[in-house]
Amino acid sequence: MNFEAVKFKNIRRAVLAAILLPFVFMIAEGVVLIRSSLTQYRALENDHLFADVLARGGSIAANQILAELVATRTYINNPDETTRAAMLERRSALDIERAHFNASLPAAEALDVGLRSQLSNLRLAYSRIIAARSAVDQGYYGKGGNPVHIYGQAGLKQLGLVESLSLRIHDPVLMRKSSELMSILLSYYGERLIGNLGQRYLDRTDFSAMSHEQFVQGQMMLGNGMDRLRFHSSSPVVRDILAYRAQADEVWADTFTQAMVSGALRPDKAIRDKWIGIQNARLGFLRQTIDSVTTDIHVTGEALSMRSHVHMTIVLALSCGLVLLVALIAALAVRGIRLVARVTEERELLIKELRNAAQTDLLTGLYNRRGFEAAALALLMQAKYGSRWISVVLFDLDHFKKINDMHGHDAGDIVLKRVAGIARETFRSFDLLVRHGGEEFMALLPDSTPEDAAVVAERVRSAIEAAEIELPGGEILRVTASFGCAGRANAASNRNFEDLVKRADLALYAAKASGRNCVVAGPVVPAAGQEERRRMAAGSHESRP
Ligand code: GH3
Ligand code: MG
Ligand code: MG
Repeated sequence: MNFEAVKFKNIRRAVLAAILLPFVFMIAEGVVLIRSSLTQYRALENDHLFADVLARGGSIAANQILAELVATRTYINNPDETTRAAMLERRSALDIERAHFNASLPAAEALDVGLRSQLSNLRLAYSRIIAARSAVDQGYYGKGGNPVHIYGQAGLKQLGLVESLSLRIHDPVLMRKSSELMSILLSYYGERLIGNLGQRYLDRTDFSAMSHEQFVQGQMMLGNGMDRLRFHSSSPVVRDILAYRAQADEVWADTFTQAMVSGALRPDKAIRDKWIGIQNARLGFLRQTIDSVTTDIHVTGEALSMRSHVHMTIVLALSCGLVLLVALIAALAVRGIRLVARVTEERELLIKELRNAAQTDLLTGLYNRRGFEAAALALLMQAKYGSRWISVVLFDLDHFKKINDMHGHDAGDIVLKRVAGIARETFRSFDLLVRHGGEEFMALLPDSTPEDAAVVAERVRSAIEAAEIELPGGEILRVTASFGCAGRANAASNRNFEDLVKRADLALYAAKASGRNCVVAGPVVPAAGQEERRRMAAGSHESRP
């Protein structure tokens, strides 16, 4: 692998890291966002669920339980078909609401230990109602009998559950509304007890010390509920209740109740009726408020759940968008890197081509001198370890000037090309060929003695002699060439082959001198003066560029 490739690989890594690292962080942030949104979503869904259960539970505590109690007491005191039918209707109404309530409960695993134990207490309280129902049916309750404890207990347990659920709601608005509902229910229960026992007190029927105690208990519940309501005095519902309670008649009724609790009061029938009327109207008002608050809680829970759905959907959509964006950018990055890789590859190819062009002779496709020198150096370096001999063959076309003169320069070019082709085919594949001058070529033959070189040269010579070179006009030309060979033992200390070229040149000169179209081999060492003569005789041969 070359330096360019390593550099490119590093650049690719850096680019990929620069593009993808921010996205890694963005994805990590996205995961955190999705997780926190999911937690929030679950909490809100839980709120929604709890709000539903709580509103249903509150409604059962305020309506169905007490309604069945009233119908049952009426039946006990006055058992006939009508009262029985009314009682049975109330029972089935409670059972239906209970079934709805049970169906709206979250799965047991979703509840904490506290809620689970409260639910099992509630079930126990209901099983006592079932037992009381059968006791009523079998006539165990005599006239004046009152299963109020049993129903009261179930109601209180139901209220307790509402209270616990309201404490487990996270959303502040829903939590406030739930807590309001709980306070109103508490007041309502207090008012129910007060109304019930107050009436018995005023009618002087069945009012024992125990009843008085319950009366006081009712007052405490009412006081407790009202105190809690005052805590939420900014809410419109609570303001309505407080305004209602501030009316003159209401204040009068409260004072009257206070007097009853203290004991001595024995009012006349008119005042009794007025008090009972106010008490009943108050209960009606509270029941109405409870209905509207439970509906409001349902709606608020629904809206909350809707909002959390929308929020979650947006978060998921954004996350998907982010993932798509990352994928897109990664794809673009990969494409960009591929493009850079291609451009780099093309550039390398171009450089190679340019390098070749700089080292190659355009006409013949053989090495030029510059290319030859680099290749020869590499070959000699190799030869240092392998071959023991190295030889040079120099050859020059005979009377080439005549071809140019007779057929034109273009024909001369065709001949040169063809001769180069013959040389390429006829020398051995590992011999280096160079266009040494105008119509003079040279071959470097590794691992060859001058005798070996002469054999190869002779083969090339006869191939050139035999070649029929066709010109574009159809004319056939024949040429010959003269060869000079020289060789020496290859030595690590001598990477220069100038001496070889010189000696091959002398051999070529000898070949020209001995009639051309022949091969002269062997170390021809020029004697003193011979060089001078050779120059004189060579004439045009030596005048080449
Ligand atoms: P000799 O047998 O002594 O070598 O005779 P010669 O005519 O071949 O010798 P000389 O060196 O005098 O002539 C070489 C000629 O080659 C001169 C020049 O015009 C021609 N020549 C050199 N380069 C090219 C070339 O690229 N194309 C063509 N067509 N002719 C070339
Ligand atoms: Mg020549
Ligand atoms: Mg020449």
